[in-house]
Amino acid sequence: MRPGVAELLYLIAAVCFILGLKRLSHPGTAVSGNRLSAIGMLLAIVVTLFDRAILSFEMIAAGMVVGSALGLWMARAVKMTAMPQMVALLNGFGGAASLLVGGAEFLRSELVGQNLSLDTSITIQLSLLIGAVTLTGSLVAFAKLQELMSGRPITFPGLQALNAAIFLAIVALSVYQISVPESLLWPFYAVCALSLVLGILLVIPIGGADMPVVISLLNSYSGIAAAMTGFVIRNDVLIISGALVGSSGIILSQIMCRAMNRSLTNVLFGAFGGGSAGGSTKTAEGLSVRQVGPEDAAMQLGYAQLVIVVPGYGLAVAQAQHLVRELGDLIEKRGGEVKYAIHPVAGRMPGHMNVLLAEANVPYDKLYDMDAVNGDFERADVALVIGANDVVNPAARTDPGSPIYGMPILNADSARSVIVLKRGMGSGFAGIENELFYNPKTSMLFGDAKNSLAKLVSELKTLS
Ligand code: NDP
Repeated sequence: MRPGVAELLYLIAAVCFILGLKRLSHPGTAVSGNRLSAIGMLLAIVVTLFDRAILSFEMIAAGMVVGSALGLWMARAVKMTAMPQMVALLNGFGGAASLLVGGAEFLRSELVGQNLSLDTSITIQLSLLIGAVTLTGSLVAFAKLQELMSGRPITFPGLQALNAAIFLAIVALSVYQISVPESLLWPFYAVCALSLVLGILLVIPIGGADMPVVISLLNSYSGIAAAMTGFVIRNDVLIISGALVGSSGIILSQIMCRAMNRSLTNVLFGAFGGGSAGGSTKTAEGLSVRQVGPEDAAMQLGYAQLVIVVPGYGLAVAQAQHLVRELGDLIEKRGGEVKYAIHPVAGRMPGHMNVLLAEANVPYDKLYDMDAVNGDFERADVALVIGANDVVNPAARTDPGSPIYGMPILNADSARSVIVLKRGMGSGFAGIENELFYNPKTSMLFGDAKNSLAKLVSELKTLS
């Protein structure tokens, strides 16, 4: 490749990434944004392989066929509810790549007796540390979410002190390796091994249900590791794309924490979730719930002027998104208005509900962010809560002892009536009671959301 051509193509790839990210920020342009970023990535991969003449044409073509087939299969086969662990695994691969490239570059320089510059040596050590922590941390996150290991926080006295000691040892060994060029290889292997152990120890004390935040954070680490590797092998597109992943991961982690009214420190060190939530959790002794059948619920929905649907994690579990759309269409056909209220942490990953409803072709202009829709609940005839729990729990406003106190919620309790679709009185992610279910204006339609919605749809069809 002529000098400068690769850099120009890398620049085009980087522009594709940035414009793609911009387009991903709105549901209407997200699909094209995703495509644009994928084209940028394809360009970057092809240019790298050709430019460095690392592989033959046949190898490049074979790699692309195998990689594309695997990617296509994963995208189609993995269930929406399993997306977080899939992202965790992919982050882990990113970390592994940085670890391997950083390690290979170090060993190559040792083999040929080349003296590395100070900046390259530092970035190699950072690639090793961050890459290894991302790899094992992501694998633990994957194992917790896939239920290969317990989702409960695993912790023991002195864990934080041990982590600090390991970190300091890694820093000391890295400094030694950099400052004594003729040093032996063992500090290099020790840095790799200790970093792998650190990744495990950092993630085991975090509850399984907090994993999405951790995954977003590890995603950011994998970006930083990639950027470091970009400095090591002097590859501009890797530096730019790594920096983009690093910064967007941090922003996403912050958005998630803010929406849960938690600090990142609390997520990382609070051992929340997985059954050990602290704080007072009001019990519902002596309170009773009002049940409703599909026929009566359909009647309420059929004659409502405004219905606000509140989707939650249970909707994703039931995979009932297509039926929600059908129900919405039927209500609209009868002259009612339907809005979908999206809480930023509804479900188990950011944007979970947007993706789910988009899959069922719910028009995105009917999806409303929490702040945009909260004022509308007062004039809604029905708030239809489908598999959501914590995101509509009034304890977040009223009970200072509650673990979710201070978390902004959807004001479903302000609607004239509330219909809740869930299987029983099971709690949500935070593991606490929800007084909305005992509110006199709330009716519970028990059952799997998919079955209940199917019944509501058929009842609505029979209404004249
Ligand atoms: P919740 O986890 O609070 O509640 C889900 C409810 O769905 C349960 O109470 C369950 O009740 C019900 N449910 C489960 N399966 C079904 C089914 N098949 N049919 C009908 N109902 C079902 O969900 P929310 O979306 O309200 O809240 C999300 C929670 O996750 C928040 O606490 C948030 O902080 C947390 N979180 C979110 C993240 C994100 O990025 N989105 C990341 C990390 C945490 P029952 O068993 O009785 O059916």
